[in-house]
Amino acid sequence: MVIPYKHEPFTDYTVEENKLLMLDAIKKVEADLGKEYPLIIGGERITTEDKITSVNPSNKEEVIGYVSKSNKELAEKAMKVADETFKSYWRTSDPKFRADILFRAAAIVRRRKHEFSALLVKEAGKPWKEADGETAEAIDFMEFYGRQMLQLKDGIPVNSRPIEINRFDYIPLGVGLVISPWNFSFAIMAGTAVAAMVTGNTVLLKPASVTPVIAYKFMEVLEEAGLPAGVINYIPGPGGEVGDFLVDHPRTRFISFTGSREVGLRIFERAAKVHPGQKWLKRTILEMGGKDTIVVDNQADLELAAQSIVQSAFGFSGQKCSACSRAVIHEEVYDQVKERIVELTKELMVGNPTENYYMGPVIDQASYDKIMEYIEIGKEEGQLLVGGTGDDSKGWFVNPTVFADLDPNARIMQEEIFGPVVALAKAKDFDEAIEIANNTEYGLTGAVITNNREHLEQARRDFHVGNLYFNRGCTAAIVGYQPFGGFNMSGTDSKAGGPDYLIQHMQGKTTSEML
Ligand code: GLU
Repeated sequence: MVIPYKHEPFTDYTVEENKLLMLDAIKKVEADLGKEYPLIIGGERITTEDKITSVNPSNKEEVIGYVSKSNKELAEKAMKVADETFKSYWRTSDPKFRADILFRAAAIVRRRKHEFSALLVKEAGKPWKEADGETAEAIDFMEFYGRQMLQLKDGIPVNSRPIEINRFDYIPLGVGLVISPWNFSFAIMAGTAVAAMVTGNTVLLKPASVTPVIAYKFMEVLEEAGLPAGVINYIPGPGGEVGDFLVDHPRTRFISFTGSREVGLRIFERAAKVHPGQKWLKRTILEMGGKDTIVVDNQADLELAAQSIVQSAFGFSGQKCSACSRAVIHEEVYDQVKERIVELTKELMVGNPTENYYMGPVIDQASYDKIMEYIEIGKEEGQLLVGGTGDDSKGWFVNPTVFADLDPNARIMQEEIFGPVVALAKAKDFDEAIEIANNTEYGLTGAVITNNREHLEQARRDFHVGNLYFNRGCTAAIVGYQPFGGFNMSGTDSKAGGPDYLIQHMQGKTTSEML
């Protein structure tokens, strides 16, 4: 019997002892900077000449690691290994054995928690609190999916009759391609890879090219926990070459992707094409972008509203698909909430997260340039209240930026910016606020701040997002508590950390035996 699932507690870094643990962990990570990391295919370490250089986004000069880069040939080799491992062994492995690997891996990460968080601080530019939350989430995914697999291992009861016994079992799919994002380079990478593995599939793991080192460190944890060679293969590499090749590959059975809408759609379309020698329809599990809205009603706790907007907009510099990028505020309270948002935003400290600033950098030059372009667009479309500036001399820093008085159809109200930029718009009443909130192609998260019970119920019914929150911010879903995933162009609503997530990595098989 395993103990019931409970989410991993967060660390309070204002406690001196915890702060010292984190500073120690940062030193440990710093001692490892600039190392080389190979690919892992079938347990074999493969070093390539061509390398991905992972740098600290707060300090471009600081190299986190040089990581070997796969290409088509190596991707083909990894596919052969994964395919063979699936057929010869893994597909019939004991689900309890697989779940135990996850419980052990979770325990290893828990023991080295601050070290993983420190690596997130360095490689992804995450502030301490955010990094700690992410490490906790990685642990949660393992604990949660391990338990889910134990529940699914004997199938789901179906009816039988006196002359027959019927069974309904879930069996694995095959080789899964897992393409994971940089913004949750530990939690989502680990969560998507282990969900595919614990269900009996073998995995080709292609982590985001800007954050490959943490994925390598996680591979080491899985090996230590007893994961056999060839079950998860680590193949960082360019999306255009390796990603496309494996998405198109006739032996790929499913693709689990988290990232931009553009890449998600590309995968969706390519995966739909049946290639010569392919015997199945590929399944896709896609988590894409968001244009997430917090609605503020006139009967509401306005301090809570402003705090929720600021935290959801600027936590991890707005680089979450769940981030609040627009707030729609009832006209009667608009000015008051707006002023408070400006005050709170001005208090935020931006700087190198190694030194525990509230807000760190954005991930890379391309992101920085894109965000700065949107800030220029925002200046044309609305009124700049605070921020609007950046500095990319040492790292990629963008100051928290608030625009007011936006038309609901303005570009910065419609397009995903993925940076610390929030746009405010006014609504004449609650109906109009919900209408504006739904006026996007996405449908990931949203929040409503109101003390009006009828309005909460109206939002529950009509605010069309996968994760809807009442009287709180719209980020920070917890595994097993708030299953996470969106509607419409936000993806396949696959609900990571939810009760039906694992099933999407399996297929149901009915057997019926006459007695
Ligand atoms: N699950 C995260 C949250 O609830 C966001 C994940 C993402 O940005 O991809 O904030």
